[in-house]
Amino acid sequence: MRNLRDVELDGKRVLMRVDFNVPIDKQGNILDDGKMRGALSTIEHVLAHNGKLILMSHLGRPKGKPNPEYSLKELAPHLKKLLNGTVVNFAEDCVGPEVEEKVNNMKPGEVLLLENLRFHAGEEENDADFSRQLAALGDIYINDAFGSAHRAHASTVGVADYLPAYAGFLMEAEVKMIKSVVESPERPRMAIMGGAKIIDKLGLIGNLLEKMDIILIGGGMANTFLKAQGKNVGKSLFEEELLNEASRLLDKAKQKNVRLLLPVDVVIAGEISAAADTVVVGVDEVPEEMMILDIGPRTIEIYREEINQAKTIIWNGPMGVYEYEQFARGSKEITQAMANASAVSVIAGGDTAVIAHDLRLEDKITHISTGGGATLEFLEGIKLPGVVACGD
Ligand code: AMP
Repeated sequence: MRNLRDVELDGKRVLMRVDFNVPIDKQGNILDDGKMRGALSTIEHVLAHNGKLILMSHLGRPKGKPNPEYSLKELAPHLKKLLNGTVVNFAEDCVGPEVEEKVNNMKPGEVLLLENLRFHAGEEENDADFSRQLAALGDIYINDAFGSAHRAHASTVGVADYLPAYAGFLMEAEVKMIKSVVESPERPRMAIMGGAKIIDKLGLIGNLLEKMDIILIGGGMANTFLKAQGKNVGKSLFEEELLNEASRLLDKAKQKNVRLLLPVDVVIAGEISAAADTVVVGVDEVPEEMMILDIGPRTIEIYREEINQAKTIIWNGPMGVYEYEQFARGSKEITQAMANASAVSVIAGGDTAVIAHDLRLEDKITHISTGGGATLEFLEGIKLPGVVACGD
């Protein structure tokens, strides 16, 4: 990817795509500004080199029409605070003559935050005309929105047809980190996969079998593998139509000498609720009317030992229904084990990042990715359009 370090920014209009898709409550309070902080190093670089910084982002899914519920307006004062009082103005739209005038009046070292890109249908359609209108605001274009890099939209791809395009530091760091984990010469390389929907992650597991030495499986997706091995999973979540595919992946793991580990014991309950009574059973002993809702203590022990041996680890998807205390132990213990490990560790995906955050273990994890969907597609081996547009 083309990097920004040697680019002349002095007095230039720098049009930068960021991922400011932060959670905001009804009163306009920003609940978690992690994504904004993530972009600060690139923002500060541009400002320190006297660029006029024009920031663009999406927020939520306003479906191509203006909707005050999804306005980025509240983010401008917060960004100003994060930048210790730097001038941060807000434009009520992201294209058009009024925005152009605001850009023309900017001084070097100032920031202009544009209104939500997705108020225009042209953004998600990657419309050439809309891309051109955006591109007219800048002299150079930076993409620092790794979280949106799997989308071929006007602001992530189209603009690069009209302006010289560079990767921001966050984009660069995310790509480098994920690559370093799956391509590291230091072995064993480990992936930990959990979460509910195996259908979304089959391609990913298939690709990880080409790269990793060991894969630990937990969460709802383990059930389809257990069922494919002929085990009874009772009322647990599993995908009937993917049983063959799961068997095929188990065979492929054997052929490739990848150790694909499944739970040996599980926490089961009759219902998913805060009041549910739980029992731990072996994976051969799940009664008909029960559900598997977390990995059990023996599995935790085995997985912990494996994590201790690993040199690089990437984790996506919780080990159980972690939203309820009774089914959260597996995910918590795995996070703790990763935090204690000497491996290079990457957490990819919202749920797993929340667990690390709640346990205050973020500092002990090498990298927590800001891009859920983008990270998974990248790991699946798919070329991300936003990354390609930066010259990769
Ligand atoms: P995903 O978006 O695929 O990463 O799935 C995350 C969701 O998986 C979380 O909301 C968990 O509650 C859910 N989950 C994890 N383990 C299980 C399980 N054994 N049964 C049902 N849902 C699960």
